[in-house]
Amino acid sequence: MKITDIIQKVRNSISPQEQLSNEAVLGFLRVLENVDKEEISCDELYTKLDEYVDRQVDMKDAARIMPLMREHLNICPECCEEYEALLHVIELTEANKNDG
Ligand SMILES: [Zn+2]
Repeated sequence: MKITDIIQKVRNSISPQEQLSNEAVLGFLRVLENVDKEEISCDELYTKLDEYVDRQVDMKDAARIMPLMREHLNICPECCEEYEALLHVIELTEANKNDG
């Protein structure tokens, strides 16, 4: 859903007499920003873990381009273990490739 659609919905939910002030719109956008920054779940992390590890092995900047993943790994020991195991496997694979 586009942000403009959401704003339109909010406008529609407010009675016509009432003007939606710029402050109200800005406040609402701030709420949306915060929603974007919400933590991801273990499931979400798991679906992107391959991508994250590949990026980390290739470019060493996975934490920068996927900060939510990094955040989750920091707070979730189970996912962190999974990540380190996968990282180890991929690093071994890459090392073998380079040897050949
Ligand atoms: Zn987790």
